[in-house]
Amino acid sequence: MTGLKSCEAVWFAGLVAWYIIRRPFERRARRVATVKSFVGPREHALLVFAFAGLWVIPAIYAFNGFPRQLDRPLVPTIAYLGVGLLCGALALFYRSHADLGRNWSISLEIRSEHRLVTKGVYRFIRHPMYSSFFLLAFAQLLLLPNWFAGGSGLVGVGLLYAFRIRREERMMLERFGDDYRDCMAHTKRLIPWLL
Ligand code: SAH
Repeated sequence: MTGLKSCEAVWFAGLVAWYIIRRPFERRARRVATVKSFVGPREHALLVFAFAGLWVIPAIYAFNGFPRQLDRPLVPTIAYLGVGLLCGALALFYRSHADLGRNWSISLEIRSEHRLVTKGVYRFIRHPMYSSFFLLAFAQLLLLPNWFAGGSGLVGVGLLYAFRIRREERMMLERFGDDYRDCMAHTKRLIPWLL
């Protein structure tokens, strides 16, 4: 029981740290004008799914244990691995924000004076922020000993990624042309040299 509560506490502490990392970038981004937006109901829905999978479903589980029939045993080694993944996710989340700087936006937008970032973590992969989302979702799976509450983040993030990635790359190609084509030729999307 205590182990379970610690796992939940670590998970929610991770989410709070996630928000603390994002907050200053979000505030700074508000001051940068958007020149082209591809944000519609579909993009909003994808953000809602990701939020539900990472926050809402785990919160319901932490509150009343729902759905108990999908509980799995809590294995300390797996939970510690989850803590490691969570730390990795937060570090990569911070780095990708720092490298993107004023070009960051929560959804599909082109900023005024938008620059193509190919430095820092973007030298190795072109979607490090999405990689950090996947690391976070895997940490959730390892930390919460319930298949539904543990796996919901992976479903939410998977949907966000699957339905956004092609549109985002099309948008970047439209804006940066050969420079982005070159970037695509030299980097993988999520895992260096692999995927
Ligand atoms: N897909 C990236 C960025 C996510 S933030 C990642 O996972 O790291 C989303 C916004 O970042 C997009 O709307 C786009 O405007 C911007 N963006 C994505 N890749 C970029 C890059 N290499 N350089 C500059 N801006 C980029």
